[in-house]
Amino acid sequence: MSNEINSSNFIRNIIIEDLESKKHDEIITRFPPEPNGYLHIGHAKSIVLNSGLAREFNGKFHLRFDDTNPTKEETEYVESIKEDVKWLGGDWDALYFASDYFDIMYEKAQLLIKKGLAYVDDLSAEEIKAYRGTLTEAGKESPYRNRSVEENLDLLERMKNGEFADGEKVLRAKIDMASPNMNMRDPVIYRIAHASHHNTGDKWCIYPMYDFAHPLEDAIEGITHSICTLEFEDHRPLYDWVVRECEMEHTPRQIEFARLNMTNTVMSKRKLKLLVDEKIVDGWDDPRMPTISGLRRRGYTPEAIRNFCTAIGVAKANSVVDSQMLEYFIREDLQLKANTAMAVMRPLKVVITNYPEDKTEMLTVSNNAKNEAAGTREVPFSREIYVEQEDFMEVPVKKYFRLFPGNEVRLIGAYFIKCNEVIKDENGNVVELHCTYDPETKSGSGFTGRKVKGTIHWVDAKTAVPAEFRLYEPLILDDAPENQGKDFLEQINPNSMEILSGFIEATTAEIAKPNDKYQLVRNGFFNVDPKYTTEDKLVFNRIVSLKSSFKLQDK
Ligand code: ATP
Ligand code: MG
Repeated sequence: MSNEINSSNFIRNIIIEDLESKKHDEIITRFPPEPNGYLHIGHAKSIVLNSGLAREFNGKFHLRFDDTNPTKEETEYVESIKEDVKWLGGDWDALYFASDYFDIMYEKAQLLIKKGLAYVDDLSAEEIKAYRGTLTEAGKESPYRNRSVEENLDLLERMKNGEFADGEKVLRAKIDMASPNMNMRDPVIYRIAHASHHNTGDKWCIYPMYDFAHPLEDAIEGITHSICTLEFEDHRPLYDWVVRECEMEHTPRQIEFARLNMTNTVMSKRKLKLLVDEKIVDGWDDPRMPTISGLRRRGYTPEAIRNFCTAIGVAKANSVVDSQMLEYFIREDLQLKANTAMAVMRPLKVVITNYPEDKTEMLTVSNNAKNEAAGTREVPFSREIYVEQEDFMEVPVKKYFRLFPGNEVRLIGAYFIKCNEVIKDENGNVVELHCTYDPETKSGSGFTGRKVKGTIHWVDAKTAVPAEFRLYEPLILDDAPENQGKDFLEQINPNSMEILSGFIEATTAEIAKPNDKYQLVRNGFFNVDPKYTTEDKLVFNRIVSLKSSFKLQDK
């Protein structure tokens, strides 16, 4: 890991060389999502890389929708992708749709036919597959391979005009059925699809295939460095062939890097869509999802995601990143930024029997112990408070320093209290503690009379505001679900969300608004949920716990 952070990445080095040698005056990169789902953290890696390089070298960054497949694409996805890219700070210099290039692509297909480099094939999909051969065996040429230029031009035109049914014909590049690279064995470049397109409507009955469309899109826009993931390495000869034979003015260079994989995370839109469609999660923006919108709702900041993406680096070999590393970066980011507040998630009532009945005093507490500039706030304190159930044990285990009968603890920002009596209901459950406080021990008074080993948080019962706290665990149990060929639906963690009804101090409840982030003392970093928070009810998503044993250099 540390190697990758320090070594400046190999793509950056290529760009530096290309600028120094004056191969390019200016670089242009792009992020080319297919609008068939919401963006995930893997896409963030690509956005941060591409937009970051363009910015660093004063170049340009394009957002381009690779919308060449009419059946799976939707406007909802286009809008969500724009929002997510913008939110991540990937400001684009230009926004394009591949479908705007359909006319040019069609002309280029005609050009290939005229050059004897493309033909209309009547073989079925199964036959084409069977004719393709194997890695050790050459493919077989289609009987339609040697149609005349005129016939091919005419058939393509008629395919375009909708004269044939889906699957009846395709247009193929005429390259080499014996090529050791399977991608070069006369790949299909156009297929018939009588489908409405979100941008072009019913204008087209034929749609270009990715391997033909993508290099043209890059070349049309003058992309200098077309950065993609490793699985396209074997497609590069075809990419270069298309750019060359279509006689494009600009020649982009395809460079491959390893896609991001993370432990306990599925990262393919197909799988994420399944989670949404099967209602295993509450939409694409469920806080347990690795989508950008899910991470945003969970409480991740763009800074944390960008820092994570930079730190994981750019490599040529696939690997799996520990998802705790992402958590590390949100902690780093929020540590100084997020103010502290006190909330009790599993409340246990404490009555301070020697505190005056109708008195409420305001106590001054720090907004962020690590950041003095965050200042202080006043929180109410009175005779009845709530503490966490886990901060009391009737029969303490060894080294338990919190509340138990006869023990004294410090209440953060308040007083020492001592537990005198345990009140139970008819079933023997502890429902209330009776304690006494020592007025001499007020926080900030300089009291040094005696020490206590336990310090706990609390909220004032009279004024605290009910709130919901949602705690999350990984959605996927398995460590590297994408690598083990297992059905990921069997790896769903049934306990990935726990919803708790507790209380938060009034001072913070009054000002908290959706997407505000807090360090709730001892409980973790939380985000005010933008979906379920209402005027009357605050809902908090736990982003991460406050501490972890994870160290950056561990990875
Ligand atoms: P998925 O496999 O999740 O469906 P995709 O690659 O089909 O993703 P696209 O919309 O085609 O999704 O991807 C847009 C860009 O994002 C591509 O350039 C792709 O290389 C990049 N990308 C997708 N997933 C990752 C990942 N896990 N790590 C890095 N880059 C990725
Ligand atoms: Mg794709």
